Amino acid sequence: MDLNLIQIKEIRKQVLRWYSQCARPLPWRGTRDPYKIWLCEIILQQTRIEQGTDYYFRFLENFPTLQNLALADETKVLKVWEGLGYYTRARNLLKTAQIIYHQYKGHFPQTYEELLELPGIGPYTASAIGSICFNLPVPTVDGNVRRVLSRLFEIQDKLNSTSFCKKTQQLAEKMISQKYPGNFNQGMMDIGSTICTPTNPKCMECPLKKFCLAYQHGTQTCFPIKEKIRSVPILHWAVGIMMNKDEILLTREVTHNFLKNLYALPTVDITDIKIKHAPKNISALLNKKLNTSAPSEWEFLFQFTRKYSHRTIHFYVYKTRLKRCAKKNISHPYQWVRLKDIHQYPFSRAYSEIIHKIRDI
Ligand code: SF4
Repeated sequence: MDLNLIQIKEIRKQVLRWYSQCARPLPWRGTRDPYKIWLCEIILQQTRIEQGTDYYFRFLENFPTLQNLALADETKVLKVWEGLGYYTRARNLLKTAQIIYHQYKGHFPQTYEELLELPGIGPYTASAIGSICFNLPVPTVDGNVRRVLSRLFEIQDKLNSTSFCKKTQQLAEKMISQKYPGNFNQGMMDIGSTICTPTNPKCMECPLKKFCLAYQHGTQTCFPIKEKIRSVPILHWAVGIMMNKDEILLTREVTHNFLKNLYALPTVDITDIKIKHAPKNISALLNKKLNTSAPSEWEFLFQFTRKYSHRTIHFYVYKTRLKRCAKKNISHPYQWVRLKDIHQYPFSRAYSEIIHKIRDI
């Protein structure tokens, strides 16, 4: 895997040439504005480009400048972020904007080390901002780039193992262009996402095929070498929609850190309940959760499933109306919200989908 200087120069040249001719026409390409590059990099973590592009424009529309974002309140930022998931990213966007606005007088820090100190900015994002906006020769090594490198050099270490990460990082550091680091990084990322794809890589179109060991040996899909897939826990949650005239009962998440300050519907975990569809069971649990003064009968509406990286959740959605004789003030953290105002409240994606559906019911 030792690279000689001639190989390094040749790979670099091919990546830069290919990028100048075939770069994807993404909306943030061509800008070196660190605010825009930072926004798109944070949005695109764990998000597909098509979906991320909409959010990129939505953010710029609501917060055209770093100052607008730094002075916004968290509920508004979460609302604009709604549906993207991983809400810590949105909270960190706000915190970082505030730090840059107050401590750096509104100017992005220009060293890799300073960028790394900002909330939500890890090595990948710091190197993307640093190389694209400030010409710092630091490689951006995401999953796509690691896949390209693992095939180029047939890296035998298991994907995501410490040795695999170390080797790919060292290779990328040797290969990066000192003169055009931003273009080199973007070229490698584009090759990884459009040509050297996980299945059916388009080797005939690849500017690196001359150097690629996996291509020469026909072993492209054997790399990177994967760990056995871990099974994720499967949970079952009953979600209660309680209506009172034109109002709906919401709760504000205060326990789960990653969902903090998002709104939700009253929910009980029924994973351990044997007969999940028994309405009596569910009614009793939801009534207990809400501690209502007059127990309600809950009607089953629909079920759906969401798969997350760390768990799968089956949602069972129930509905009821507050009984006339019941007291309206259900204790904290619940609150009544008029259905017509519900669009002002930020929800995680699953709850947002439920709200969307029940408005038609
Ligand atoms: S030649 Fe094929 S396997 Fe090798 S880097 Fe290019 S696309 Fe990937």
